[in-house]
Amino acid sequence: MPKCKVCGNTYSFGSSEVPPSAPTANGPVSGMIAQFNNQNDVVSVSSLGASKASITKAVDDPKQFFDTCIHCGSQDIDWNNSEE
Ligand SMILES: [Zn+2]
Repeated sequence: MPKCKVCGNTYSFGSSEVPPSAPTANGPVSGMIAQFNNQNDVVSVSSLGASKASITKAVDDPKQFFDTCIHCGSQDIDWNNSEE
């Protein structure tokens, strides 16, 4: 599963491709946020302005799209820790 190298989050990541629809200090980091299982699969997507086409592309190739930790905002994501 993807893992944030900063805070250790492995569950929920946002996409910098889709900016938040209403940026605020406490708002989400992305307009498209996915939850992952431990096989690198997207189990659900929360969309706040992403088009259906964008979501489909992101689910097909999550490594290219979900690049932002929603907990700490880091974009330092490790996709290769499947040994754990
Ligand atoms: Zn993080």
